[in-house]
Amino acid sequence: MEKESERQQEQEQEDKKVCKRCHQNYTPSSNTPSSCRFHPSFFVCRRHDDQKRYYELGPNDPPYAAKFYDCCGAEDPEASGCTTALHVSYDDD
Ligand SMILES: [Zn+2]
Ligand SMILES: [Zn+2]
Repeated sequence: MEKESERQQEQEQEDKKVCKRCHQNYTPSSNTPSSCRFHPSFFVCRRHDDQKRYYELGPNDPPYAAKFYDCCGAEDPEASGCTTALHVSYDDD
């Protein structure tokens, strides 16, 4: 229940942790349930499931061009996560 109204500068003195899910640095006090964006599933290399969207291969696309996140169907590996949660430190278990 911390308010961070005026704290704009980096908090160098605070313990920085590394999230084992997204590998970003974070401080425990700035860790909120929306801090960590990630895909709960893997980036896969296959066609979309029949009921879902279907990646249209172009004539020059190799067959393995159908790559997407299994969780949300995003076809860009750089697509920002479809799920948010608290960062998870390597200390947590
Ligand atoms: Zn996703
Ligand atoms: Zn994270």
